[in-house]
Amino acid sequence: MAHFRFKALQKVIERQPVKVVREDSLTSNYYGINVFDRPKMKKYLSKDAYKAVCEAIDLGRAIDRKMADQVAQGMKAWATENGATHYTHWFHPLTDGTAEKHDAFIVHEEGGGVVEAFSGKVLSQQEPDASSFPSGGIRQTFEARGYTAWDASSPAFIVDGTLCIPTVFISYTGEALDYKTPLLKSIQAVDKAATAVCQYFDKNVTKVNANLGWEQEYFLIDEALFAARPDLILTGRTLMGHASSKDQQLDDHYFGSIPTRVYSYMEDLENEAYKLGIPLKTRHNEVAPNQFEAAPIYEEANLANDHNQLLMDIMKKVARRHNFRVLFHEKPFSGINGSGKHNNWSLTTDTGVNLYSPGKNPKSNLQFLTFVINAMKAVYDHQDLLRASIVSASNAHRLGAHEAPPAILSVFLGTEISKMLDLMEEAVVDRKMTPDEKTALKLNIGRIPEIILDNTDRNRTSPFAFTGNRFEFRAAGSSANCASSLIVLNTAVAAQLDSFKAEVDALIEKDVKKDEAIFQVLKKLIINSKPIRFDGDGYSDDWVAEAQKRGLTNINSVPEALTAYLSKQTKQLFTSQEVFSEKELEARTEVEHEKFTMKVQIEARVLGDLAINHIVPTAVQYQTTLLENVKNLKEVFDADEFETLAHARKELIREIGGHISSIKAKVREMVEARKVANVIEDSFDKAKAYDNTVRPYLDDIRYHIDKLELTVDNELWPLPKYRELLFVR
Ligand code: ADP
Ligand code: MG
Repeated sequence: MAHFRFKALQKVIERQPVKVVREDSLTSNYYGINVFDRPKMKKYLSKDAYKAVCEAIDLGRAIDRKMADQVAQGMKAWATENGATHYTHWFHPLTDGTAEKHDAFIVHEEGGGVVEAFSGKVLSQQEPDASSFPSGGIRQTFEARGYTAWDASSPAFIVDGTLCIPTVFISYTGEALDYKTPLLKSIQAVDKAATAVCQYFDKNVTKVNANLGWEQEYFLIDEALFAARPDLILTGRTLMGHASSKDQQLDDHYFGSIPTRVYSYMEDLENEAYKLGIPLKTRHNEVAPNQFEAAPIYEEANLANDHNQLLMDIMKKVARRHNFRVLFHEKPFSGINGSGKHNNWSLTTDTGVNLYSPGKNPKSNLQFLTFVINAMKAVYDHQDLLRASIVSASNAHRLGAHEAPPAILSVFLGTEISKMLDLMEEAVVDRKMTPDEKTALKLNIGRIPEIILDNTDRNRTSPFAFTGNRFEFRAAGSSANCASSLIVLNTAVAAQLDSFKAEVDALIEKDVKKDEAIFQVLKKLIINSKPIRFDGDGYSDDWVAEAQKRGLTNINSVPEALTAYLSKQTKQLFTSQEVFSEKELEARTEVEHEKFTMKVQIEARVLGDLAINHIVPTAVQYQTTLLENVKNLKEVFDADEFETLAHARKELIREIGGHISSIKAKVREMVEARKVANVIEDSFDKAKAYDNTVRPYLDDIRYHIDKLELTVDNELWPLPKYRELLFVR
């Protein structure tokens, strides 16, 4: 076994960087060549068809069957000219990752042979045999059909000879079975609400776009070492492994020079991403050894999320070409930083204004403050729901571990904005303002600098931080679908903007001037949401105590946190904004609870197996060697000398024996705990049982294994160690 480990290490050492040839030295020359984007549509579609697609993208109009046929013809022509032989609807089911089922373009031709064909019907809608996707009991098996429907707002693209058509995925009874459907609905909701509020400031605004700029963190591990770690293969994380003597304590990896093999992987990845129109912008080393980050230029939220999911897929493929495996797990290695996925979120109008950028005058700054304050209130009111949107079995290892914010939601605004809110709170009184008061306030508001400098100091410990021209939701996990948190964020902000507008309008009805009405309602929101504002250290223990005093919730259990999806408040929010029905919420929560249970269950099984058939035999083997040694000593030395010499060895034999017994006993207990949990019917109760009675064994058993790793002869140890996984490259 040990030979295998050392062979793997040898392989890694001998690896050379894979030579990468860029499509063109100028990115702009080949950016998007594999995307059926507007310029290509213009070329391949009739005028009418082109117009229909543009209207579908810009105005959300439906495309009729006749037009769809025309679009399909053009799309097929472009795709086949560019080497595509197959097509697929491409969607985001409620699993980790995307789904696709390829069909060849061919149909039989009359008189024999085949011909390439593609119709509007096939482009628009398909019925994948989807009974094996998670649905949370929405689809009974007797009506196990679901269908996918074309999302014209995200362009089709070619990957490896297959034309991929982004689609939503819905059950036959109309419930969403994916992330995209509710994301699109939430984008519509926030568009509608934000556009209405923008009318107070600028009548020309007719549409507001939600934007997303994600930052994707990940680890790269050499394939040979990965293959020697069954836990990484099956669970995405190491279930055992003693800390390396050196890991990230010298801070020498973050922004360090990129290792050569990794650099060529990144070049290859960017090359592929650019061909697919994914605007990758930033690449750098992250804090932990072998941890990296990629970030694009932000885009419209639905497109940005498709690009994130697509890129994750491409990353896995490109990594294989470079003999790497990419890890998206939130905590692949204990004791060092895990990976997150920051969601940078903003709203922009069709008049070209970023509602989260301060403007040039008091009016635009008041609009800016309106959107900041309403977002803050939305986060305050729906803190439990936002938490629910980011928790998972894997992200649970990261949150609150002094590398990611705790399970407490708070909003960081920075001193500049905070000062302004304090001022508004003091200045505006709920009576008619004097003209002087009003002028003074407006003057102050006008003073917010266009570029907010103090926010560049970045409070990295805040889960929800204002960073100058956007909010950054940092609690999301690296493996997550961004839609999960965006759906909540968009919808909560939409509902808050609706209620803001209703209050302002009510005051205007009572003859309060528009700007005064806005001041008054904003003041109320500032006061009511005060507890969520926190600019201090989100990682500190003081904050946990302070947050409790403020009445903020702090829920560490994943199954508990998920139940926020089922609260009265949540149901009211989502049904009134028409993003989720109650049935969909119940189904999703069930899916999430089941996912949690299964992930813990798989980890428990893998750890049990490894403990019993990798670790215990190795420990016994070493123990036997020690026993032999003691016997030999006894033969050679006289009794006195033997006692001195054998003392330490006997201790070691006892210590190893102790760990072996503990491992065996705890694995047995863990299996029993699983048996008890497995017969629980209710998905929430079952998840809780796994959380409370099975999960703790993972750490317990690991403790003994990691002790053995330090004791047992290095030559015998069957698994690559942390120092090898993280530093041999
Ligand atoms: P940092 O790590 O300092 O936060 P990065 O450059 O790694 O910065 O990532 C910033 C992310 O924020 C990028 O994806 C970028 O496109 C995105 N972003 C920048 N401005 C906006 C904005 N107005 N709205 C949404 N996302 C934005
Ligand atoms: Mg960031």
